[in-house]
Amino acid sequence: MISSNISSRSDVFVPRLMVVDDGFRAEPEEETDDADDIQRQLATVIRHQLSLLGEDTSRPGMLRTPERAASALSFLTRGYDQTAASVIGEGIFEESHDGMVLVRDIEFYSLCEHHLLPFYGKAHVAYIPNGRILGLSKMARVVDVFARRFQVQERLTDQVADAIQSALSPRGVGVIVEAEHMCMMMRGVEKQNSSTVTSAMRGCFLHDARTRDEFLRMAHG
Ligand SMILES: [Zn+2]
Repeated sequence: MISSNISSRSDVFVPRLMVVDDGFRAEPEEETDDADDIQRQLATVIRHQLSLLGEDTSRPGMLRTPERAASALSFLTRGYDQTAASVIGEGIFEESHDGMVLVRDIEFYSLCEHHLLPFYGKAHVAYIPNGRILGLSKMARVVDVFARRFQVQERLTDQVADAIQSALSPRGVGVIVEAEHMCMMMRGVEKQNSSTVTSAMRGCFLHDARTRDEFLRMAHG
């Protein structure tokens, strides 16, 4: 609430915010205002960036490009607004299954934090339960939470493994990520057919060679 003594430092106090609570009128959500403001600022920066690069941002094809690019960038980095816990939600179930659970070929798209260019590929995520299992679709959503940020592939791999480990406390977790990096393909060394493979092993995937072998065999089956 606005208290009257705030105005004591100026002669005329103009309240910045009128609080109308008639029970019908919905107050605009602050978050929406902030999000719109961020989009506008992003578009301004992108327009400036394009003209620094020599583009004419006033030609018809480019007129709305800064706004579209700002909205695409926000979508591609929406993982900043999410946590593994928030996407997993109620998706954990008591279950006595004690064999390996593997979701293979989870497609993902990310942006490399060094060049801001895409890298994309597939993640294979496995765990051995210890009394609790995770809804299968949630495994893909956990990958997305961390992929939709500026990343390096190594950290993405570790973050997915650690998130599954801390959500389920399973006997072990294994994650393999295979990706192609546009920063390698489009610039620099221009190695168009190379792919990068990273892995993160936790618990029995780390300590038990047979578990690890089974995972590697199933992941590439
Ligand atoms: Zn890069």
